[in-house]
Amino acid sequence: MIADGPLVELRNVSRHFEVRRTLADVLASRPAARVRAVDGVDLAIARGECLGLIGESGCGKSTLGRLALRLRLPSGGTVRFDGVDLASLHARALAALRPRMQIVFQDPYASLNPRRNVEQIVGLPLQLHARLTAGERRARIITALEWVGLGVAHLRRYPHEFSGGQRQRIGIARALVLHPDFVVCDEPVSALDVSVQAQIVELLGRLRRELGLAYLFISHDLAVVAHVSDRIAVMYLGRIVELGPTRAVVAAPRHPYTRALLSAVPQVHAARLARIRLTGEPPSPLSPPAGCAFHPRCPYAEDLCRATRPELAELASGHAVACHFADTITDPITDPLPPLEAVPCNP
Ligand code: SF4
Repeated sequence: MIADGPLVELRNVSRHFEVRRTLADVLASRPAARVRAVDGVDLAIARGECLGLIGESGCGKSTLGRLALRLRLPSGGTVRFDGVDLASLHARALAALRPRMQIVFQDPYASLNPRRNVEQIVGLPLQLHARLTAGERRARIITALEWVGLGVAHLRRYPHEFSGGQRQRIGIARALVLHPDFVVCDEPVSALDVSVQAQIVELLGRLRRELGLAYLFISHDLAVVAHVSDRIAVMYLGRIVELGPTRAVVAAPRHPYTRALLSAVPQVHAARLARIRLTGEPPSPLSPPAGCAFHPRCPYAEDLCRATRPELAELASGHAVACHFADTITDPITDPLPPLEAVPCNP
């Protein structure tokens, strides 16, 4: 039975990690520090939808992707898949849902077992989750390979015989061979040559349309996310700071952090925005700043930002922003920003 509502739903989801105490901490009876990798996230992904998740390294994107698949359990909040609370499932019920939720990993070099051939690699999920005859299994493997532009000729080959792009195609075939409904694409092109990235992004977009897949598409590259996603969620230090339809977020980003990310896309900053360089590293998640976590890097920060954390609030239909001054940032494309560090546009 198909439940009404979103296919994947995260409500107030958090994941905190305790950092191991040093000897000095133990001697001083200091409690273990906690890292808030994901902190109070609400997201929903519809059937067949691609939600892009963007943010700098270490902001919690990959942890969120694993929480959505119950590869990790949340510290708080609920994750539902097709209406089912994943935390409530025992091993057998979870195993029955696994074929419907899959992941494409970032690194096609590390994610394929070098001692297995393509038939064994792509066939492994079928071995674990489907009762098929050898002939049926092989037919499913060949179909999945054909979806990604490979075929029978590649069955007996090993990962080292393929280029990076081809290896990622094998990883995608492995994720799709069980005919999932939902796939977390975790930085699927960031380890590839730029020349190959567009092919893999196009492939993932085509497969989504043809197979009716829903994606959580994780990337640090806003240009890639904007190309494939129906909506974009921007993450900063474990929290969603902007969420909206791709067109709205790209045309009129309201959060200063989104604006900085967008201005780093060459096609955008050359045409519409002065380049805004984010200065400094993101703050440590061990000791996040009080108030708005972005305030040490934000050119708009005022006393209110240093004292009070802004909540994600809807500004327009489906477009929500966590910024005290989001409604005054109305036209970021033609109205130059107070620079974090503005540099001239490329001619
Ligand atoms: Fe900047 Fe303040 Fe908005 Fe945070 S709340 S993004 S510090 S203006």
